[in-house]
Amino acid sequence: MPTVYDLTKEQLGERLTAWGEPPFRAEQVWSQLWKRASTYEDMSDVSPRLRERLAAELPIGVDVLDERTADRGATRKALIRLGGAHVIEVVLMGYRDRVTVCVSSQAGCAMGCTFCATGQMGLRNNLSPGEIAAQVVWARREATKLPASTPRRLGNVVFMGMGEPLANERHVFSAIGKLTDPAGFGMGARHVTVSTVGIVPGIARLAGAHPQVGLAVSFHAASDELRDQLVPPNTRYPLAELEEAIAGWRAATRRRPSIEWALIDHVNDTDEQAELLAPIARRLGAHVNLIPLNPTPGYPVLGSPRARIRRFVAALERARVNVTVRDTRGRNIDAACGQLALSASVR
Ligand code: SAH
Ligand code: SF4
Repeated sequence: MPTVYDLTKEQLGERLTAWGEPPFRAEQVWSQLWKRASTYEDMSDVSPRLRERLAAELPIGVDVLDERTADRGATRKALIRLGGAHVIEVVLMGYRDRVTVCVSSQAGCAMGCTFCATGQMGLRNNLSPGEIAAQVVWARREATKLPASTPRRLGNVVFMGMGEPLANERHVFSAIGKLTDPAGFGMGARHVTVSTVGIVPGIARLAGAHPQVGLAVSFHAASDELRDQLVPPNTRYPLAELEEAIAGWRAATRRRPSIEWALIDHVNDTDEQAELLAPIARRLGAHVNLIPLNPTPGYPVLGSPRARIRRFVAALERARVNVTVRDTRGRNIDAACGQLALSASVR
């Protein structure tokens, strides 16, 4: 069992009953684990002996190996060992009006996007549902350490950490179920966003399984020729099919999808790409999120300079596309989008 967060409430109850505990104990431990995001040490109403046994036999399984902060403490990146085995990174971002956690769905990633540090390391492991959920529980606890310039209350979860969520679909859907369970963590599904490289069948299943969860699709190119190079899964799920899947998702959920686009200097920040992107975004009623490419060791090309970003934005706006440029959080601690890869010490 990787972590106690993999257990259902009933399973936890069965374990505690087998240990001779009264029925209310499971309720007590469950609600502290999920609602209060307490660790066993924090559970002052549970006897020290039981706390020890819980920690030994049903571990929380979140070991913070390293933690770095940036943006005056408002961005916190943690290197975490989950379930005693899988090492991943989680990033907590405090803004003026909200706190968002960027979670990992896999240790590494098999999709091979050339510009992405996680892609450059390849896939190590899929995370279990409890290991995914445990990152969010950690973030609820950690949010209390954010500076007073933020709400200090976790509000949003985005699957933009390490890994491709729809390549570990069953576990990701189950984790979302745990996080949105009103008897558990109790997060609103509308505050969860899945970011995908564009795994077409997974997009339709997301709409079926969790219709209130948001969808962000990493495009980065609006022609198959360029997208095949930047995002290898495009050869399997080309743009026309991807667009159809997103349109289906939108019809089923009645929500606005996002298109993610990392601006790469003289690669995908051209007038031609803007002109190809605009009609797709308009047809999908999508919001385009631009972000200057963050530097990674394995990709020599730079992010677009300001003038080229402005030009790209203007081209989209002229075509009446809804567009924003996202700020890059935690760049100097390699915590920004696409920069997550394990530090040398744990490789
Ligand atoms: N695998 C999923 C989610 C994790 S990546 C996906 O690809 O959508 C989260 C986001 O970071 C994606 O939009 C991804 O394309 C983007 N990204 C990857 N490398 C980046 C980089 N070097 N600079 C900026 N964004 C990057
Ligand atoms: Fe994987 Fe997303 Fe990185 Fe592509 S961008 S390699 S899908 S984590």
